[in-house]
Amino acid sequence: MTQDTRFSELPYSRPVLDAVQSANTELLATFQAAQSADEQAAVLDAWEAQRRSFQTNASLASVRFSQDTTSPAVREEKEFFDNIHPTILGDKIRFLEAVLGSDHRPALESKMGGHVFRLWESELTTFRDEIADDKRTESSLTNRYNTLLAGLKVPFQGTEHTLSTIRGLFGDADRSVRLGATQAQAAALGGVSGELDEIFAELVTVRDRMARRLGYDSYTPLGYREMSRTDYGPAEVAAFRDAIQQTIVPLAARIRQRQAGAIGVSDYAFHDEAIRDLKGSPKPAGDHDWMLDRAEEMFRKMGGDFEQFFSMMRKRDLLDLKSRPGKTGGGFCTSFEEYEVPFIFANFNGTQDDVNVFTHECGHAFQAYTSRSLRPREYLWPTYEACEIHSMGLEFLTYPHMDLFFGDDATRFRTGHLESALTFLPYGAAVDGFQHQIYKTPGAAASDRLAQWQEMEARFLPWRRYVDTPYFEGGRLWQRQRHIYNRPFYYIDYCLAQVCALQLWSRARKDRPGTMALYRELCALGGSKPFTALLSAVGLDNPFDPDVIARVASEAAEALDL
Ligand code: ZN
Repeated sequence: MTQDTRFSELPYSRPVLDAVQSANTELLATFQAAQSADEQAAVLDAWEAQRRSFQTNASLASVRFSQDTTSPAVREEKEFFDNIHPTILGDKIRFLEAVLGSDHRPALESKMGGHVFRLWESELTTFRDEIADDKRTESSLTNRYNTLLAGLKVPFQGTEHTLSTIRGLFGDADRSVRLGATQAQAAALGGVSGELDEIFAELVTVRDRMARRLGYDSYTPLGYREMSRTDYGPAEVAAFRDAIQQTIVPLAARIRQRQAGAIGVSDYAFHDEAIRDLKGSPKPAGDHDWMLDRAEEMFRKMGGDFEQFFSMMRKRDLLDLKSRPGKTGGGFCTSFEEYEVPFIFANFNGTQDDVNVFTHECGHAFQAYTSRSLRPREYLWPTYEACEIHSMGLEFLTYPHMDLFFGDDATRFRTGHLESALTFLPYGAAVDGFQHQIYKTPGAAASDRLAQWQEMEARFLPWRRYVDTPYFEGGRLWQRQRHIYNRPFYYIDYCLAQVCALQLWSRARKDRPGTMALYRELCALGGSKPFTALLSAVGLDNPFDPDVIARVASEAAEALDL
């Protein structure tokens, strides 16, 4: 291992469960026998090193599975970690009980910061050994969902697409291509709808059962704790959805109306939503390698820290951006803690989405890289709604450099991006409201769930009209939204972060250097504070305040001439 070791050569080893467990037992005994805060802190340091090594191997196994869901050997490594996870979690819970009950806790808190203790207290209420088997069931169900979607073939116009690459045609200038691509995706998902229903029903059942075994009334409060939310709950989130409905839905409806006018249709439909004029979505003017060259130029212009970060990522192959059959869909950023490097995963499809996903994931990676030396490891990443400010914020902060990717189409790209940022908010609120309904009625039949989704569409997406796509018309669009299966209640995070990212956009219009400094400061804080405290530390306004939503909405409306 050197400073230049490439991704493919990063050392990996499958841990031996017995050895990990006996090390855990020894750590616990040493901690309990320690006579002073300093001695206990030394045990916490040893525990930290062990957890970093474990995370690194688990993360390598998980990334390799995302890169190739068809290889049995790779799948076996991922399943190994999924299977031992609940056992390791049990050890962790016992260790945390000792840490939280320590006589030296005030001294430990002042050394490590109080936030990690709040996180641990919350985590203690999310697991007991009685739910270990349910946890294993849950991860095998999400693996089954991801593998099913990764393997779906979407034939269209003589080409076999994946769910990711077919999306590239949703923004085509030719309306019949957009409709055909949408129908092809719906048909592919429709072919496995029974299995998608079944996996979801089992997931809801197992999640509800885990919650009840832990003493909760439903999965919702457990889901919030699993998201490590320590500073707000479902009531604040419900009020936030209401504010989106009141303030953003009417603005989004005006955007849709103008788009319908620009493309000259009186029967505006779902398959028109990805474009804003008759030219179709802007496309980056080159392929994968060309994009990386432009990105290098962009980051060079943004400053030495961005330049160094990105050339390191590229030189060490910490990017996997091309679509391939068998790769899981979507994009994500993760990190290998022991090696202190992030990793970016995406599925390029030749459209503007590639630039969006790329700048988004680079925002996550830049934060992870900037705050890599924070300790303990809980401070490396904040909770997701704060993480998404780094990513969605960078999408806006790279606006001045979009000419590099889009040339003469850069202005069209920026306007379309800002419109999408606003029209996204109601969709995100629909996904979140739907999940709250789901876990309130865990025994609902599959058909009830479809009706629950349609209710959300009527409330938040009133313009939506599907044409000749029975699968979507029947209330099943949510089945392609991976978060709903993989990570309950992780979606409103994008909406909370978007309201903060829009604040960065607004500030950068008036003071770019100051806003870039604020962005860097936020990234460097990592996860050392809860969401709302991170915001106040850098002077961003709280998105739970309806006035803040109204303010960014009105500035965006003005910028868009709406
Ligand atoms: Zn993200």
